[in-house]
Amino acid sequence: MSPYLINGSILAERQREQIRNEVRSLRSEGVLPCLAAIRIGEDPAASAYARSQAREASSCQIEYRLVELQPDILVTGALAVIEELNTDPSISGIMLHLPLPAHLDAFLLQQAIAPRKDVEGVGATNLGLLLMGRKALVPCTAAAAMACLKSLANPIEGRQAVVVGRSVIVGKPLALLLLESHATVTICHSRTRNLSELTRRAEILMVAAGRPGLIGAEHVSPGCIVIDVGIHRVESKQSDGKPIMKTVGDVRFDEVAAIASAITPVPGGVGPLTVAMLLENTVRAAKREKQDPRA
Ligand code: NAD
Repeated sequence: MSPYLINGSILAERQREQIRNEVRSLRSEGVLPCLAAIRIGEDPAASAYARSQAREASSCQIEYRLVELQPDILVTGALAVIEELNTDPSISGIMLHLPLPAHLDAFLLQQAIAPRKDVEGVGATNLGLLLMGRKALVPCTAAAAMACLKSLANPIEGRQAVVVGRSVIVGKPLALLLLESHATVTICHSRTRNLSELTRRAEILMVAAGRPGLIGAEHVSPGCIVIDVGIHRVESKQSDGKPIMKTVGDVRFDEVAAIASAITPVPGGVGPLTVAMLLENTVRAAKREKQDPRA
């Protein structure tokens, strides 16, 4: 039987519709949500990401301010720009495009963003709140992966969930969100022995390893729900032998789809929801600022 295909584009459009309603109501009360995105230097992937953010923000009537800084800016200069945005009442949320030029430390700059404006949810305060099960601005990719899972009617409570990957922005927050939903969670990583033995126990398998095609049929038990966070551009061959660039995930889709009960495709799964979650966090930040500007 074919698995249920989780369509991230449809879910993202639903999410944007909800955001539009929230923004309409905020605007009627005089609050204009605004996302400031800082880009330092010219990275083609970051530029493409910024364009898609601008497009989606505009489709939700959220202001989008791209703050473009020179690649040779000193750390003190970058920190001063962040402080200016932190104290600017017209800015609801701030995000930092990566990668940064080599002389700048992403951790240092991200931690300088005020927690109430940290819409990527990567600062210590928001990650700490998530750990404590409190309402926080949740890292967007982890939130997007959870939204894919929650779009299914299947219960999460009491299920065996396995997360492959332990990064601060995806794997760890994802594991915490699964715990919040009362799953029994195992986290696997690059030093895990017998990966397939552990992943085969999963009723829910969330993969964020950053390794194209890492997970195959040998890693998955029949009926498993598989959420693939990975996204990679790889060279592949057309039927005539000519090379072509393809977007693939961490999961060997055809193999795993033959076994899973539900699966996210790549592209078109988790990816489209990530920007929607960033906008959702921007609206949440704008609402909180309205309720208590000191929060
Ligand atoms: P990362 O490189 O920071 O972390 C990868 C994690 O996977 C590490 O914790 C590592 O221990 C683990 N890992 C690596 N090799 C492994 C192996 N062989 N077995 C088990 N675990 C292994 O990556 P990240 O930033 O967490 O991103 C993960 C993936 O998600 C990447 O493919 C990235 O492109 C993708 N991503 C997608 C979106 C999106 O919007 N869909 C956003 C961010 C990241």
